Amino acid sequence: MTGQKPVRRFQDFRWEATDLLAYRQDDGVPFKDVTRQLLFQAPDLLGELRYFEVAPDGHSSLERHDHRHAVVILRGRGRCLVGEQVFDVGPLDLVDIPPLVWHQFRATEGESLGFLCLVNVERDKAQLPDESDLAKLSTHPGVGDFLRAK
Ligand code: MN
Repeated sequence: MTGQKPVRRFQDFRWEATDLLAYRQDDGVPFKDVTRQLLFQAPDLLGELRYFEVAPDGHSSLERHDHRHAVVILRGRGRCLVGEQVFDVGPLDLVDIPPLVWHQFRATEGESLGFLCLVNVERDKAQLPDESDLAKLSTHPGVGDFLRAK
């Protein structure tokens, strides 16, 4: 982000001079209606700050990886799976996703869910669940319904 203006203005959940990107490039990773803005990418800080927005009824991919996420919800309401539990989340809630914990975000019906996500610049690729992982996750209260939600 060299040559960036010191202040990039915010309007309607877009930041100026910041591209609206597809959620991810990986082929074959299931997700629905998610956009991404890369707000800060600073290798000297070792971190990147991104803003994701999940459209109403959309969801991020169900995944886990070695790197941690620190998430701040900015807009809307939704639910997130962290490990073996599902949580309702709303504006300014903080979500800590430790290494190698399954996680997924779903927007509430009729509302977009937008959140900041802090992550390492250098990070491992996401792992996706296989049938046995999904079966194991589904045994926890509320998780099966969460995973089956369309
Ligand atoms: Mn992730």
